[in-house]
Amino acid sequence: MGTEHGSDVSGVDTHCPYCALQCGTRMWDTGGGVSVRPRDFPVNRGGLCRKGWTAPEVLRAGDRLRQPWVRNTRGVLARSDWDSALDRVGKELRRIMAAHGPDAVGVFGGGGLTNEKAYLLGKFARLALGTRQIDYNGRFCMAAAATAGKAAFGLDRGLPFPVTDLAQAEVILLAGANPAETMPPLMRHLEDPELIVIDPRRTATARRARLHLQPVPGTDLTLALGMLHVVVTEGWLEERYVRERTVGFRQVYRSVVHWPPERVERVTGVSAAEQREAVGLLARAERSYVLTGRGAEQHSGGTDTVAAFIDLALALGLPGTPGNGYGCLTGQGNGQGGREHGQKADQLPGYRSITDPHARAEVAKVWGIAPEELPGPGSSAYELLDGLGTSGGARALLVFGSNPVVSAPRSAHVERRLEALDLLVVADFVPSETAEMADVVLPVTQWAEEEGTMTNLEGRVLRRREVLPPPGEARSDLEVLHGLAVRLGQDPARFPTHAPSVFDELARASAGGPADYSGITYQRLDAGEQLHWPCPETDRSPHPGTRRLFLDAFAHEDGKARFVVVEPRGPGETAESAEMLWATTGREAAHYQSGAQTRRVDELVETSPEGTVSVHPDTARRHGLVEGGRARVSSARGSVSLRVRLDSGMRPDTVFLPFHHAGAARANLITNPVLDPRSRMPEFKVAAVWVEPLVEEAG
Ligand code: SF4
Repeated sequence: MGTEHGSDVSGVDTHCPYCALQCGTRMWDTGGGVSVRPRDFPVNRGGLCRKGWTAPEVLRAGDRLRQPWVRNTRGVLARSDWDSALDRVGKELRRIMAAHGPDAVGVFGGGGLTNEKAYLLGKFARLALGTRQIDYNGRFCMAAAATAGKAAFGLDRGLPFPVTDLAQAEVILLAGANPAETMPPLMRHLEDPELIVIDPRRTATARRARLHLQPVPGTDLTLALGMLHVVVTEGWLEERYVRERTVGFRQVYRSVVHWPPERVERVTGVSAAEQREAVGLLARAERSYVLTGRGAEQHSGGTDTVAAFIDLALALGLPGTPGNGYGCLTGQGNGQGGREHGQKADQLPGYRSITDPHARAEVAKVWGIAPEELPGPGSSAYELLDGLGTSGGARALLVFGSNPVVSAPRSAHVERRLEALDLLVVADFVPSETAEMADVVLPVTQWAEEEGTMTNLEGRVLRRREVLPPPGEARSDLEVLHGLAVRLGQDPARFPTHAPSVFDELARASAGGPADYSGITYQRLDAGEQLHWPCPETDRSPHPGTRRLFLDAFAHEDGKARFVVVEPRGPGETAESAEMLWATTGREAAHYQSGAQTRRVDELVETSPEGTVSVHPDTARRHGLVEGGRARVSSARGSVSLRVRLDSGMRPDTVFLPFHHAGAARANLITNPVLDPRSRMPEFKVAAVWVEPLVEEAG
């Protein structure tokens, strides 16, 4: 038997490399590879989804990157060595910065990077490059929920309670989340509660629900207002909680008074009776939760939509009440930690604001520089990509752990912007679609080949452990950043390559910030302590971490949560003709994010070999589509070619495209990059499209 934490002769305890649930696994070196089994860790209780079971296959992918590649004078990527590759990058970066200033270099990170990598990447950008231009793909994932959570509670932690609390609930409202497919082991905690699911599709999660509300895409915000109206008018308002623990209800009430359920029904397609039933279920339960996912969040009004669901939860007295709450189901593996350590355009380590003079001074002290040497905030992820190669935009881009050619909205445009760069450098472990465009490709380690920490969706800090040596010449991203920093004239000691040393510095840099890790050490984690941030360093006995937030007070200075007034607004574009449909995008069970990893696993590819479009059978008949035939789905941004899948669980006015596939099946060829004004989240979840049959060519 392996030990509960750490390792012994029969295995090493670690976590799945994929989603934010971070299921506990035990892995063994089988000589040439690893074998993985689930273990009895609280979030997965011995369960694992197919992606987790098959994750070792990515370690031995046939096209695994094993040495650096550099584009030669004939424009071909050719094998290289580390010194040549890093020398070339260093020289090019120095030339570009000398000619155009530090902001001519951009950095694009990822929500799957370990805490140590995310921290060192932010430090590298601000200190070694001196650029403002750093952001990451987590902007496409969590930005709306984070912005809304911070406004309401003064602090953003996806789930402010442990996942295991959900199992004791009587009722859970899931707005735009489909965990039965995206994180199946989570469903072990949702077996007893009754579920209310809001989703335009009848998903696997919706099929298990007591009540499925199926709104028109882009109208969730209006639906939340209608439900809040019902709370007030039908006497469900938790008046004492609202009076003692919140501010701003009166203003919100004045705005929702205009949204009775009958009016909401005309906008959303969800009947007034269903709205009332949903609120009644939530309100009558002793213990209930409201959870949001990307379906509610990835809109040009995403922050307001989440704010409306938080308003609903506050009116029912849920957040900060034992056994109840609001939370966001963060998606990427380190979606929580990735947003805390400084790879986001507006943040410094510890989840501090880069515009806060006190935070700047604290971080500058740890980094040994003057606060004024720290650059200010830069552009958000899509704006950074959109500006590449333009006057005022970055002319060089360093990409770590991200594949924006597939995952960014309006992806053909993003591809053109990447082509316009003077220098594109990609650090990855497989030749992703973005790596294939690069001038320099740097091979890096992945989960079973490295030490580090991740922070899961409940703010729990977890250890990732090494069991295999890296293949070929692959190096850790920490070593890559060290090598580049040295070539940019930095003191090597400022960029450690030893993960525990980076963590110790990260913890010091976070001290006093909202996400305070200063009391967490590798020793404590390796001893099996379950530590959720904030976990500050103390003079006395070690801080136990904070499993549940807000039970006594919210994080605003007065300790009270904020109701936020929001106004409904439609999607960023309108359907110009009655023939147009709404397209919405999302994940399917077999694949993860841009698919760069899971498209290299045979078993997963067999299950989902190509891009599909799910269409209601009546809609298919109207548009001349047949099951298994091909369709072209076109928006104002471009067209995508997909296999038709008939699904009577779809709304007849809506089609669904999984976003994991590449080439002509890239769902993001059609998505709308219009941004949420507050979080800069693009509108992945709704686009006006034409759908037509495509004749398949023989062969
Ligand atoms: Fe991995 Fe997420 Fe599946 Fe768990 S649910 S095995 S963390 S992909």
